[in-house]
Amino acid sequence: MASEVSERQARQVAEAAREAEWKLPSFGRELFLGSFRLELIHPQPQLEPEAVQRGERFLATLKEFLEREVDPLQIERDAKIPDHVLDGLKRIGALGIKVAEEHGGLGLSQVYYNKALALAGVWHAAISTLLSAHQSIGVAEPLRMFGSERQQRKWLPLVAKDHVSAFLLTEPDVGSDPARIAATATPIEDGYLLNGRKLWATNGAIADIVVVMAQVPQGDGHRGGISAFVLPYDSDGVTVEHRNAFMGLRGIENSVTRLENVFVPGENLIGREGEGLKIALSTLNTGRLALPAICVGTAKWATKVAREWSRERVQWGRPIGEHDAVAQRIAFIAGSAFGLEAMLDVASRLADNKATDIRIEAALAKLYASELGWQVIDALIQVRGGRGYETAESLKARGEKPVPAEQVLRDMRINRIFEGSTEIMHLLIAREAVDQHLQVAGTILEGDGDLRSRALAAAQAGRFYAKWLPRLAVGEGQNPRAYEEFGPLAGQLRYVERGSRRLARCTFYAMTRWQAKLEYRQAFLGRIVDIGAELFSIAAAASYAHTIGREQPERGAEASELAELFCNQARRRAQRLFQELWSNDDDANHAAAQRVLAGRYLWLEDGIVDPAGEGPMIPEEVKRVATGEHVAAAAG
Ligand SMILES: Cc1cc2nc3c(=O)[nH]c(=O)nc-3n(C[C@H](O)[C@H](O)[C@H](O)COP(=O)(O)OP(=O)(O)OC[C@H]3O[C@@H](n4cnc5c(N)ncnc54)[C@H](O)[C@@H]3O)c2cc1C
Repeated sequence: MASEVSERQARQVAEAAREAEWKLPSFGRELFLGSFRLELIHPQPQLEPEAVQRGERFLATLKEFLEREVDPLQIERDAKIPDHVLDGLKRIGALGIKVAEEHGGLGLSQVYYNKALALAGVWHAAISTLLSAHQSIGVAEPLRMFGSERQQRKWLPLVAKDHVSAFLLTEPDVGSDPARIAATATPIEDGYLLNGRKLWATNGAIADIVVVMAQVPQGDGHRGGISAFVLPYDSDGVTVEHRNAFMGLRGIENSVTRLENVFVPGENLIGREGEGLKIALSTLNTGRLALPAICVGTAKWATKVAREWSRERVQWGRPIGEHDAVAQRIAFIAGSAFGLEAMLDVASRLADNKATDIRIEAALAKLYASELGWQVIDALIQVRGGRGYETAESLKARGEKPVPAEQVLRDMRINRIFEGSTEIMHLLIAREAVDQHLQVAGTILEGDGDLRSRALAAAQAGRFYAKWLPRLAVGEGQNPRAYEEFGPLAGQLRYVERGSRRLARCTFYAMTRWQAKLEYRQAFLGRIVDIGAELFSIAAAASYAHTIGREQPERGAEASELAELFCNQARRRAQRLFQELWSNDDDANHAAAQRVLAGRYLWLEDGIVDPAGEGPMIPEEVKRVATGEHVAAAAG
């Protein structure tokens, strides 16, 4: 099955899983369309005092627990979260932070769930990864959103209390492209039989209940398609074949899990057959805020370490923080910490408020925080010099403070790959960014349809663009008094307004130039999305500084300074990206890559010896096991 999926089919599956409707207004969608609707994110919704109180109480409990009972060096040394730590997390309710109180959880808001992840993640990223895989993608969130009342009553109290959960989608031959899912769910009386092999399931080595994605064959009254199931992990036929080890995140319980004729009752199907990917994607709409939260914690910690170290360390007669090259990095680290926190706070309050659709903002936050967070840690390593490269254990053994910068760099790297790699996030967000155009002009762009339907589509598109295009010419960003209430940050918001219109013009121009082929211009689309992320981050920083001024007046001026610092950095990045939209080496690079792939420069690889040896990267027999062919063969 897997190898038969064409590019077109893969895209059709992704398209079908996409939430096509926009029931609520979206700041991100409007931003890409050239309409800067600041009122959709600002003023930020007020936090409810009662929710704040409960949230702060839990943060204090979590902090005390981490400091008293968890040794991060031990997790790193043993590559294992000790049992007493897991038990402690269960005891304080950390497995049910976001689960409603009526189902036995703490019922905290998205804002406080994120703060908890940031706190735990800084102590050791294996802990925040356990918690977020369990709650953001594991059983709780898909059931909260799509589970029946019966399913919620049955499973949520368990996962909120002490049943660790995991999410099993990926397979050896199925990564970013879920259309290839080979695991099967064969309907039988009262339920389904699951077969297949699942790769890289975080928590999968110790889970109690998991969500599994598998293909239900069509026919015999079955709608079929990729479907999501809740599966008790102690079911017969479930085998954890391997505990995977990684560059970082030492201590996560990540598995290869084999499913062999595993019975799952029909009542464990989440939603309907064929809705599995939609469920996975919708779960990620807010689930995606977990990773930015962890990045925010890391960036704040990097600011602390950079500050303390750069004041204390003296070289060439001065604290290193006074040398300009180091000072530039400190400004980058601190500015980024503020900008990332702003973006997260804006998106999380919107998530709690539920008045807008935040799928684009959450996706932008994931993309942006994982990329910028990585650069922040890289900058910190440089500021720490040789100590940045040394392990915390080794520093400690020499009597120095055990600052785990190299560990954090290793831990952070995965954020650019899982829960949607940067490349896939670019495509996903770009799809949303051009959605309105596809709605009004898709038929023309694709060149699909007969003459009559294309003529109708042209007329419809004509009407839309006759109104839309003139709006891109002028706007509040040209009014020197606009956004005055933001004081020194007003200019930054005027830039966002102008930038949003420019971005929409560039997108429109690219669509007319490349039409349906635009989707293959990934480097171009990536920049469009990255510009959108910079613009959103600037708007978020201005709004967040304003909020701090309202909620903590004594910090208002300082927040404004940090916002200015961050906005200037973000603006320069946006300007560079705008320039590179039309002046780049994309075509030449793409052609060169094809020549590399064709083996034209094989001689360039002379003089090395490959420690992995020769042969295919994923041998056929591994793929065969992954597709469950061995089971079919055994049965046959
Ligand atoms: C530590 C860890 C934890 C994980 N936890 C889980 C989990 O709990 N549950 C789970 O189901 N999965 C999990 N995963 C899997 C993770 O989500 C995948 O690694 C991710 O989806 C990417 O898939 P892949 O690694 O197979 O890369 P591939 O899809 O093979 O991609 C390889 C490269 O090609 C790029 N690429 C792929 N398609 C395109 C395209 N159309 N256009 C442009 N570029 C493209 C990718 O961005 C990437 O750079 C985990 C992985 C790791 C390493």
